[in-house]
Amino acid sequence: MSKSVNAIGWAARDPSGVLSPFKFSRPAAAARDVHFKVLYCGICHSDLHTVRNEWGNTRYPVVPGHEIVGVVTAVGPSVTKFSPGDKVGAGCLVNSCRSCDQCAANLENYCPDLVLTYNSLLPGSAFVTYGGYSDVMAADEDFLVRWPDSLPMDKGAPLLCAGITTYSPLRYFELDQPGQKLGVVGLGGLGHVAVKLAKAFGLRVTVVSTSSGKRDEALGRLGADAFLVSGDAAGMAAAAGTLDGIIDTVSAQHALPPLLGLLKPHGKLILVGAPEKPLELAAFPLIMGRKTVAGSMIGGIRETQEMIDFAAEHGIVADVEVIPIDYVNAAMERLARADVKYRFVIDVGNTLKAE
Ligand code: NAP
Ligand code: ZN
Ligand code: ZN
Repeated sequence: MSKSVNAIGWAARDPSGVLSPFKFSRPAAAARDVHFKVLYCGICHSDLHTVRNEWGNTRYPVVPGHEIVGVVTAVGPSVTKFSPGDKVGAGCLVNSCRSCDQCAANLENYCPDLVLTYNSLLPGSAFVTYGGYSDVMAADEDFLVRWPDSLPMDKGAPLLCAGITTYSPLRYFELDQPGQKLGVVGLGGLGHVAVKLAKAFGLRVTVVSTSSGKRDEALGRLGADAFLVSGDAAGMAAAAGTLDGIIDTVSAQHALPPLLGLLKPHGKLILVGAPEKPLELAAFPLIMGRKTVAGSMIGGIRETQEMIDFAAEHGIVADVEVIPIDYVNAAMERLARADVKYRFVIDVGNTLKAE
């Protein structure tokens, strides 16, 4: 095994967010490192927030991508879980401290020293992590998931972020009991997967969207039970007090009181969307009805594997538009306009070639 791997990817260099080809090397000397060829990588809205520095923390050049599936090409001498030829998935995290309470509880996603798949500093070094818009990856075996043979790699890739980010709060906040009523706000990458997972749990799902044009698909192919347009005050009022919980996936500023109004007493509004600006939270819609507003961030590796296996068992995949790497800037523009049904996935394996 070499000490580093030469890679090519696409990087953004400044807050314009425009991506272009970028050569770099990945440190990959660790005995537990698994090297793999990237085949597909989803485009998450977090990639868009990051390339445009909307959260103010981007380290340029940044190679985004944390919905990555590929095939193992080589393994370090201490690797026990994977062999060359295995299919693997990598999500949003590639390392953590392994000694804190969160790591001990398989919640590495809440480790204070979490290493994200891109735009994170590698511990004890000045190296920045680079994500899956690249031809090869190397990661510690403990941070990879086994990819079930029955799960398509292109349509399945988005589960590695969109899937776990919605699965984990449904489980943790006990919004996974058959017959419960769940709202899913924002029918994008996360939202459409949330609908599918919730239906597999046996929930009744109401989609709350700004786009009336998504109604037929939500109620038809995606299997939602009801559809509300958030700007339709009469429709929202008629649905007041009906939901046990809400998963809010909206990527931009939006009003919370109308969503709190949809909850039953004791209902839970779970934020997973990450708008760049603070959201306003009034006291009265919360205290009247003892409602909860909470947040949730991705999930640990054990739970990610559980979710992937659950998706494979239930035939859950994302609805994807597979694109070549040189379409990535156009895809980002369309994602910013919510013009994708419902996840772009880059065909890295066939379209990202060394010059
Ligand atoms: P996405 O595909 O762009 O979906 C977001 C959806 O939000 C859009 O499709 C749209 O749905 C709705 N929306 C957009 N702008 C809006 C506005 N101004 N007002 C109201 N609704 C609006 O994005 P995504 O990949 O699903 O990601 C969603 C958010 O979750 C992003 O902020 C991302 O960074 C964050 N995220 C968080 C985690 C976590 O761990 N917590 C993980 C992944 C992503 P409609 O057309 O239906 O209204
Ligand atoms: Zn993501
Ligand atoms: Zn830790």
